[in-house]
Amino acid sequence: MLGYIATQWLTVAARYRFETKRNQLELDALHKKIEILNRQAQAAPESAWNGYRKFTVSKKVEECADTYSFYLTPHNGRPLPPFKPGQYLTFELHPPNAGKPLVRCYSLSDGALSDGHYRVTIKRALPPTNEPGIPPGIVSSYFSDHVKEGDILNVKAPSGRFYLDIETDRPVVLISGGIGITPMLAIARQLTHIKDKREIYFFFGCRNSADHMFRDEVIALQKSNPNMRLHICYSRPLDKDVLGETYHHEGRVTNDLMKEILPSSNYEYYLCGPGPFMDTLVNGLYEWGVPKKDVKFEAFGPATVKSGPQEPKPQSETANQATIPIEFARSGKTVLWDSSMENLLEFAEKNGITTIEGGCRAGSCGSCLVAIKQGNVEYVLEPGAAPEEGTCLSCICRPAGKMVIDA
Ligand SMILES: Cc1cc2nc3c(=O)[nH]c(=O)nc-3n(C[C@H](O)[C@H](O)[C@H](O)COP(=O)(O)OP(=O)(O)OC[C@H]3O[C@@H](n4cnc5c(N)ncnc54)[C@H](O)[C@@H]3O)c2cc1C
Repeated sequence: MLGYIATQWLTVAARYRFETKRNQLELDALHKKIEILNRQAQAAPESAWNGYRKFTVSKKVEECADTYSFYLTPHNGRPLPPFKPGQYLTFELHPPNAGKPLVRCYSLSDGALSDGHYRVTIKRALPPTNEPGIPPGIVSSYFSDHVKEGDILNVKAPSGRFYLDIETDRPVVLISGGIGITPMLAIARQLTHIKDKREIYFFFGCRNSADHMFRDEVIALQKSNPNMRLHICYSRPLDKDVLGETYHHEGRVTNDLMKEILPSSNYEYYLCGPGPFMDTLVNGLYEWGVPKKDVKFEAFGPATVKSGPQEPKPQSETANQATIPIEFARSGKTVLWDSSMENLLEFAEKNGITTIEGGCRAGSCGSCLVAIKQGNVEYVLEPGAAPEEGTCLSCICRPAGKMVIDA
């Protein structure tokens, strides 16, 4: 009898210890979530900054061939505002042979609670495979070859509309190819850090282990997050890559793979990767019946998938006409507007105009600002900050009629 009571008592004590621990873990997770929300709420106006702020490169780490992470600490030592996972920083660089300052955006690749530093990860943009004679990307090469620890860089505050809303509890599918992993890593790190309970499916595709950036970091995240399921796809595995050990699927990340793995299509999807990768996957998700509002994506270059994460504003008849002449005054070129174009920047690039800079392509960074000499525009998306009179953010607007632009 005494033995029975002792066993019962031990069972109750063990259950009590287990439940106390579980409650404590849940409480910790809640505290972390509240901490993030508080920091976001308090930090907004005071510690975010306008224009460029000086940051010191405190650490440079090679992640894989041609890809480096840069840890950035504020030069004035003052606190940093948190950011929403998925957002990016805007840099102004002065590569010696560029002839002018160049503006580029890089997604934050760390969690939002990494005290005292930001991290971005930059891959050298190689020339298109069918044009190997063309030089690689200017800024990404400058970062790879010249930017070193101790250098000081000009950086704009975190921004962007592509981010995870931590206040909701929708399960997520994170899909990335190559360097498109950076915003997904920030999202996965944050969800893991706050011990969020939602299901996470993390699909990542690259050629093989030589291109596989953040391998150890992502595996460590998966080990500490019981809700995260990782699916690594290698399209051209090396002899030393072992299916089932170093990667999970041979081939690219495809819609068929998602249909095979996911229990249903009822998730929030976040995608980032090369143009054709996004084209196929985003359209495949729509065809699978996933509502547009649940598919969020970020293009690192000119967008190829039409109608981005924010529903475009309805356009007037004029912007859809193909008979509007657009004059690029400085380039001495007049071209008829093409109504299949998403915006003026895309139209300018398609017509060989090189005097407009593409930055974030979301109306936030201001690098595509161009003066209007005649005419007006209609915004497809709401500008991050209203542009000065007589100018437009060419990456998010379309012509409202005949125009003359200073480009
Ligand atoms: C929101 C956002 C977030 C981003 N986050 C990241 C990130 O986390 N990591 C990252 O690495 N990148 C990221 N990018 C991409 C990054 O901003 C740059 O676009 C990228 O580094 C290329 O810039 P670059 O100056 O090196 O290349 P550019 O000099 O602009 O060249 C771009 C490409 O064009 C090719 N090219 C050059 N000349 C020609 C020519 N005459 N004809 C045809 N092709 C030519 C180059 O070889 C190169 O492949 C992000 C972009 C955006 C918009």
